[in-house]
Amino acid sequence: MAKRDYYEVLGVSKNANAEEIKKAYRKKALQYHPDKNPNDATSEEKFKEAAEAYEVLSNPDKKSRYDQYGHAGLGNNFGGGGYSGGMSMEDIFSQFGDIFGSAFGGFGGFGRSGRSSRRVNRGSNLRIKVKLTLEEILNGVEKKVKVNKFISCKECSGTGAKGGSSFKTCSTCNGSGHVTRVTNTFLGQMQSTTTCPACGGEGQIITDKCNTCFGNGIVKDEEVISINIPAGVAEGMQLSLSGKGNAAARGGVPGDLIILVEEQKHEDLIRDGNNLLFEHYISFPDAVLGTSVDIPTLEGKARIKIEPGTQSGKVLRLKGKGLPSINSYGRGDLLVSINVWTPQSFSKEEKTMLSNLAKSPNFKPNPKKSEKSFFEKMREHFN
Ligand SMILES: [Zn+2]
Ligand SMILES: [Zn+2]
Repeated sequence: MAKRDYYEVLGVSKNANAEEIKKAYRKKALQYHPDKNPNDATSEEKFKEAAEAYEVLSNPDKKSRYDQYGHAGLGNNFGGGGYSGGMSMEDIFSQFGDIFGSAFGGFGGFGRSGRSSRRVNRGSNLRIKVKLTLEEILNGVEKKVKVNKFISCKECSGTGAKGGSSFKTCSTCNGSGHVTRVTNTFLGQMQSTTTCPACGGEGQIITDKCNTCFGNGIVKDEEVISINIPAGVAEGMQLSLSGKGNAAARGGVPGDLIILVEEQKHEDLIRDGNNLLFEHYISFPDAVLGTSVDIPTLEGKARIKIEPGTQSGKVLRLKGKGLPSINSYGRGDLLVSINVWTPQSFSKEEKTMLSNLAKSPNFKPNPKKSEKSFFEKMREHFN
């Protein structure tokens, strides 16, 4: 959807000064305020749209970029998409909450005070590394991993309170988790809502702490977690298991388990994206006369034919013998680079034989001009 002009959104002219912009935003914000329009998606959109417009037009730097280049001037504009900042309701209230103060709109009590949004604790994420062989990566694998982590305390059901019920409602915030402060400023009376300092936003206070977790609601323990690794993962990839991280203090939401993939080096094969690479040496007579050789693959040996007259550096492609792609069907290839082994020691008789062979015109290097160069072939194979 194309973005509307920010001045149009707030209903002000392009020459409007800061005070006029603020006034216009306050008017729109109060008109579309969620407390005034409960469960009205259109109003919520307009409320957010106005906040985004105000966020830009109230910031001299952003305003000047917007005035010059429009939405595209606000960054995030690869391909000219324009400003994709957008603001969540939380952002709007925390940044512009003071603008809804009772002195202006007459809608005192706006902001978050009327909402029952008690703070929810979140457990921290847990990171582990999993080492995988190429064979495991080929088919995908289920790994059982023992992790040391915080789990919910069974003694108090994760509440931190003895017996799970030794609580009282916080008297400072009456259980809402928030306190509202009214301050006098030169713009009039301002109302701001902050987390209750007495209960840390939880709304409740523990009267008698659990002896097992000392009131934390969590204890360290060992857990065996089974992880399904999909086929085709690669070194450095991260998988995330939602909710399998550390439990949160006093009954919150657990964190995630982040799994970092490590690749174990294969004895013979080298991974290159979804392709596998293998270097094979053949003897000089085999290169001349041709032969068959066994090549290691991730699924046992494969026999390949070496044609008579094969040059060193030739690359043979075993289609579909590479690794699967994590995002699509099909598998990469196994590329076998054939090298001719040049003997480094020889007997007297061999030397005589070689000297004789060297006299033959058949043994003179004679690369065909039409053949692609080594570098061209490499580019073709590895791209
Ligand atoms: Zn406990
Ligand atoms: Zn409180």
